[in-house]
Amino acid sequence: MSRYLDSACKLCRREGEKLFLKGSRCHSPKCAIERRAYPPGEHGQKSSKVKEYGRQLREKQKAKRIYGVLEKQFRRYYLKAARQKGIVGQNLVVLLERRLDNLVYRLGFAGSRSQARQLVKHNHFLVNGKRANIPSYSVPVGGVIQVREKSRNLAIISESLELAQHKGTPDWLELDVDKQEGIVRAFPQADQVAANLQTQLIVELYSK
Ligand code: SF4
Repeated sequence: MSRYLDSACKLCRREGEKLFLKGSRCHSPKCAIERRAYPPGEHGQKSSKVKEYGRQLREKQKAKRIYGVLEKQFRRYYLKAARQKGIVGQNLVVLLERRLDNLVYRLGFAGSRSQARQLVKHNHFLVNGKRANIPSYSVPVGGVIQVREKSRNLAIISESLELAQHKGTPDWLELDVDKQEGIVRAFPQADQVAANLQTQLIVELYSK
């Protein structure tokens, strides 16, 4: 599957806000948004009016970039969310938040979702005691995510956990730092997700 390989910071600059794609750098003065808060490219600094469709499109692009999901897969998430009972935007957030790579990041085992994706692919985690190496794996409520015994001393995980302790764990997750283990206590509400996504705009875009 093809992946975006250019600078992650360009994605934040395109969306005009921090998407936190690069771990600790995102919280430092080196962050590209702190230094050049305008879109990349030759015409980046020119102001342009954004129409309704543009706002909807940008919100969808932002969500895809935050969760590191490609277009086809994102559309599948939307269609699944639309088939479920309840509010489509909320369903969409839950589907994205249930991804194993997202949960590894949210629990603090990795500094960014892309780092979490790498760690998952390299077999460093168990879900409910079984090996799990698919980043898009959908973890259920009650799911236990553990760092594998052989990976407990990985510097990348312990350093991320140390930073995460300062940030705190979201209310809907529970983290045991000593055991390097996290539990999904509930699915989040859209307003508990720090990404500040206006999911209604995404729903409007796909409903056309
Ligand atoms: Fe985005 Fe992080 Fe780069 Fe800042 S450092 S522009 S938040 S990826």
